[in-house]
Amino acid sequence: MAFARNQELAEPAASIEANGTPAPKVSDDAGRVTPMMEQYVEIKAGNPDCLLFYRMGDFYEMFFQDAEIASRALGIVLTKRGKHLGQDIPMCGVPVERADEYLHRLIALGHRVAVCEQMEDPAEAKKRGGKSVVKRDVIRLVTPGTLTEDTLLDAKRNNYLVAIVRARVSAPTDEGRFALAFLDISTGEFRLTECDRLGLAAELARLEPGEIIVSDALYGDADMAPMLRELPAVSPLTRDVFDGATAERRLAAYFAVATTDAFGTFSRLELTAAAACVTYVERTQIGKRPPLSPPVREAQGATLAIDAATRANLELMRTLAGERRGSLAAAIDRTVSAAGSRLLAQRLAAPLTDPVAIDARLDAVAALVGDWALCGDARKSLAAAPDLARALARLVVGRGGPRDLAAIRDGLAAAAALAARLDQLTPAPAEIAQAAAALRAPDPAIAAELAAALADDLPALRRDGGFVREGYDAALDETRALRDESRRVVAALQARYADETQVRALKIRHNNVLGYFVEVTAQHGDKLLKEPLNKTFIHRQTLAGQVRFTTTELADLEAKIANAADRALGLELALFERLAEQVITAAETIKGAAQALAAIDVTAGLAMLAAERDYVRPEIVAGLDFCIEGGRHPVVEQAIDGPFVANDCELSPPNSASAGRIYVVTGPNMAGKSTYLRQNALIAVLAQMGSFVPARRARIGVVDRLFSRVGAADDLARGRSTFMVEMVETAAILNQAGPRSLVILDEIGRGTATFDGLSIAWAAVEHLHETNRCRALFATHFHELTALAAKLERLHNATVRVREWQGDVVFLHEVVAGAADRSYGIQVAKLAGLPAAVIERAKLVLTELEAEDRTSPARKLIDDLPLFAAAPRPLATPPRDGAAEAVIAALAALHPDEMSPREALDALYALKLKAAKKIAP
Ligand code: ADP
Ligand code: MG
Repeated sequence: MAFARNQELAEPAASIEANGTPAPKVSDDAGRVTPMMEQYVEIKAGNPDCLLFYRMGDFYEMFFQDAEIASRALGIVLTKRGKHLGQDIPMCGVPVERADEYLHRLIALGHRVAVCEQMEDPAEAKKRGGKSVVKRDVIRLVTPGTLTEDTLLDAKRNNYLVAIVRARVSAPTDEGRFALAFLDISTGEFRLTECDRLGLAAELARLEPGEIIVSDALYGDADMAPMLRELPAVSPLTRDVFDGATAERRLAAYFAVATTDAFGTFSRLELTAAAACVTYVERTQIGKRPPLSPPVREAQGATLAIDAATRANLELMRTLAGERRGSLAAAIDRTVSAAGSRLLAQRLAAPLTDPVAIDARLDAVAALVGDWALCGDARKSLAAAPDLARALARLVVGRGGPRDLAAIRDGLAAAAALAARLDQLTPAPAEIAQAAAALRAPDPAIAAELAAALADDLPALRRDGGFVREGYDAALDETRALRDESRRVVAALQARYADETQVRALKIRHNNVLGYFVEVTAQHGDKLLKEPLNKTFIHRQTLAGQVRFTTTELADLEAKIANAADRALGLELALFERLAEQVITAAETIKGAAQALAAIDVTAGLAMLAAERDYVRPEIVAGLDFCIEGGRHPVVEQAIDGPFVANDCELSPPNSASAGRIYVVTGPNMAGKSTYLRQNALIAVLAQMGSFVPARRARIGVVDRLFSRVGAADDLARGRSTFMVEMVETAAILNQAGPRSLVILDEIGRGTATFDGLSIAWAAVEHLHETNRCRALFATHFHELTALAAKLERLHNATVRVREWQGDVVFLHEVVAGAADRSYGIQVAKLAGLPAAVIERAKLVLTELEAEDRTSPARKLIDDLPLFAAAPRPLATPPRDGAAEAVIAALAALHPDEMSPREALDALYALKLKAAKKIAP
């Protein structure tokens, strides 16, 4: 191909375009369409929603609109290739060996790519006649949710494909139930869950899917469309993929079983979602079936419910700015393998709610904390273990290379070593014993065979050859000897020719065009072109400085060499297939071992973390306790230079109460309120995922739902710090939180005028206390709220201490009972560097304001408001009433001192009459 290409331009402003380019017409009136274009157009028509990577020699070429989209997205040169229907055909291409890199970028931009390969050697096509086109076929669709290549995947994250199915809506008010099936074809996990409309957003936030598939109908549904359009990589598919009637059959077929009964009983909705997933996998992998575990249903309520806003807010997986650095995940990840890191992320995304299950994980961590030598050895084995699950998945779909076989070899060796080491732990907690059993399960013969077969240095691709160890296969050794022998013969021949021609500098060389040839410098060329040497040396090529020849002997030798090399490669490829087949047969046990490696990595990593940062084992109980002594913020304590001040938190129900407590936390800006709130939420998350926690002691009654919101003014990073968002999110909490929930509200009501804000905050606290009855931490700058403690029995005031020292404020970060005496706003402003004149003036103004009104409006509210008219009874605002106002106006107009008793009596009757009008309808 003689096109100048891949001269990369500067990164263009890549615009994301809708995938899908209309297929051009096959022929015009003149009918002048090359056979190749005809083939192209036909294949493209079969994959209208994908960019088509059309293999031509060492390039994947794209044509027409695909070429325009790709050249813009990838910054590669758009060229032309011939004409189609009288028009230039736009074209661009990427070299095959760098295709992954370009695929990665296209996928990241939301494109889907169909990879079309040459299915035969071009020489075969030539044999059929000059005009024959090389057979080509699409061998795979590359979509964001169905990737297997390491280069396309983030090693530390799962890449989920999620199918969403909605149950038929029965009433207009019915928001619907949904089934979700999700799988990671690179690791084989496959799970199912059901949820309602609210839960759907939370589940998607937890899974962070790489791709979502839905039916066309759902995608077009007025209710669902706004949400679905906002999510990245949603692929609407035709109805048949989501057909409930054929779902079970399709699912069973994927797993090659007669019925899916053995997997458990699933609802029709779940089966439909699961079948959609596997059907999509088969379609994108063009019939190949990556090794999936049978689908497992996630038990309802088995995990701590955390909605999207809370996840973002607590910065579990990434910070509000979108980075992993600074997130809880990054702070606690001490795993040494990618699979371990993925499992840790999964556990962090879905903490448990069953105390028994949580304790089982904690037992395992405790065992490793208690056996430091074992923990260290385990981590050594783990660090040596490659990504078994992903290597296995590639081998099964036929995309594996020699290095994937080596990964299996090394992974299985590490698994066996780890199992042996874990056996020395007695008694072993159930989790560790189970993992050890899974590590031992793969047949040791497989690892042994791979160790014997694979060479030390491995090429990336099968077709490069040279990956089978010498001495493993006699036939291969023999063929290789022949090949290498021939090469020695070439060297000998060169020496002989040099001798015969008396040209010392004569060389035998090789290139792809001429094959082997004899080369001499121009000055010796003539000699070989003349008698008698021209009998032996046949002229091939004259270059500026050299002349090239061939000989019959050399041609024969060349054929022999090529044959031997081809045969050797053929033998190697056959051996590869045999080894891969052995691995695939044992896929189940290998997958189990891979999971066990990940589980031990997570456990050992958490043990390391606990030791390194001085975490303790939390006591997990069934009640509503939440008692943290000396708690710390797991991320902040690692980030700050100085010491972190530990703080207690006691939200357990006070004596005999049936609900937990609420803290109203006040204190100046920068005192540490937000930090304190979050650290307690994070401690709950850590405890329930089965980790030790940053505290001196912790007793936690399992939390079923966790909520966290930050007032609008604090929420700048989200880029939409509107009061509306804040209120919508607060509403979600007040509507959903229950007695087992833990709620964190940070400066709610900030985004509006003071009195509005205060009123909303006030009512929210009452509602939490009386109706939600949840455990909660409520940070606020409205000091008025502290007055509520007098009336609400489970409400406590806490404040973060500061000390004033020579007019400056010193933050002690210490949380104590009581209310902040004032907000120190001016002192904080001074710290921030406001000009001295402004600070002095502000102090004056403050003194004036304080002198004017020291009587707290809150005090009056407490005494006057009938409490909790709010809560279960909706507090209707009394309608403005003209009659009442008339009575009041009339009263105001009376002057009792100037009235006779008679006049007074008349006035009284008149007032009664006015009032009666008010009461009467
Ligand atoms: P507030 O919400 O009261 O304005 P923050 O919680 O944002 O205050 O805390 C402000 C800063 O104080 C944090 O960035 C952190 O560096 C520091 N800080 C907070 N709590 C502590 C603590 N317990 N120990 C040490 N430093 C702390
Ligand atoms: Mg704050």
